[in-house]
Amino acid sequence: MLFAAALAYYLFFVYLPSSRAKAIPAGSAEFSFIDVGQGDAALIRTPEGCLVIDTGPRDSADRLVAYLKNEGIKKIDMLFISHADEDHIGGASALLGSFGVGAVYVPDINSGAPNFLLMKEAAHARGADVREATAGTSFSLGGMSVGVISPFLPLPEDENEGSLVMLLTLGTVRALFTGDLGTAGESLLLERYRLPDGSAGGRPLSDGSRTGFPRCDILKVGHHGSATSTSRLFAEAVSPSFAVISCGKNNRFGHPHAGTLLVLRAVGAGILRTDRDGTVVLTTDGHTVAVKSPAAAETAAAGCEGICHMPGISTPGLRRRSRRELRSCS
Ligand SMILES: [Zn+2]
Repeated sequence: MLFAAALAYYLFFVYLPSSRAKAIPAGSAEFSFIDVGQGDAALIRTPEGCLVIDTGPRDSADRLVAYLKNEGIKKIDMLFISHADEDHIGGASALLGSFGVGAVYVPDINSGAPNFLLMKEAAHARGADVREATAGTSFSLGGMSVGVISPFLPLPEDENEGSLVMLLTLGTVRALFTGDLGTAGESLLLERYRLPDGSAGGRPLSDGSRTGFPRCDILKVGHHGSATSTSRLFAEAVSPSFAVISCGKNNRFGHPHAGTLLVLRAVGAGILRTDRDGTVVLTTDGHTVAVKSPAAAETAAAGCEGICHMPGISTPGLRRRSRRELRSCS
């Protein structure tokens, strides 16, 4: 009896904390857009493992590591670095030093950028492979398909335009991560998904073309919401329900740009921002998306800076907008 009680105590109070990674239910996933100040870092958890897209700047590395540890993460199955800018790769060495990493994926394996070489050194020291990923590379993790849809070869000169663009799909829910892709890279992507004139498929865009670009429920907005990303046509093609902007409070670049916010509002996206809402956590069961982090949920409940239509999206606490409000959005 005493033994049984001791065993129960061990299992519940001793054993569990060592595997305290909270379970992600089968068929679900969780997206955390981590507040790393001015930069990008996202943790995507599935029932069978996790991936990280970008690692924020070096001076936020402690915050990033702490977030993942607090989530009970022991191993990062795949680490994607969209490009070698400090605000995306700066925390990579700290992550590699703190967690097991299956492999690191980068768009340009031959990059000579000092930040890239540092990361590569850290990866080799930890025995993690560094591999190249470009358009067409794809993976599967915990029921989620993880596809790279840009850059195309040969790689563009401009590093931002060569950002890894990732399309994650679980059930009918899609999430798009565009790194710091600018409008030139967006146009190239749109061209690839453009349907022939007269085609009946796809969706019409405001320039009269039709696109087969997959409509996405979640968009990690390009380049921290700068004016050099998120063209009107690209926003129309992606048509996100949630647009997440990752940027620092009162950052010196003035991100996000007022014009970008207008574009996102015009296509009916609900805008969530790490500078205002802190770490933004969205969950999905493969059919609907819910806002989980309290500040972002409050923003969503207050109308999300212009949610005009959210078909198929469940946001706990999000009130229905009246017809008048809907009109005022457009
Ligand atoms: Zn950036």
